[in-house]
Amino acid sequence: MDNSWIKVGIIFAEKPNAKVICPTCNKGVLQVTDTYIAGSNTYERCVFCEECSQKLCMRKTWSETT
Ligand SMILES: [Zn+2]
Repeated sequence: MDNSWIKVGIIFAEKPNAKVICPTCNKGVLQVTDTYIAGSNTYERCVFCEECSQKLCMRKTWSETT
């Protein structure tokens, strides 16, 4: 996991609909899935590349103000 994926994480944390080309293979368009964790106010947002299977997951907390 290099700096380019850290930047990807920052982009998708703010803009889940962003269209970003995978920084690992420079081919795939990154896909986003949000998985809600039952019984909590958190969810896991995963970004993955269908071309090279690189994946980044981050856990986020619901915010009622945004
Ligand atoms: Zn890729």
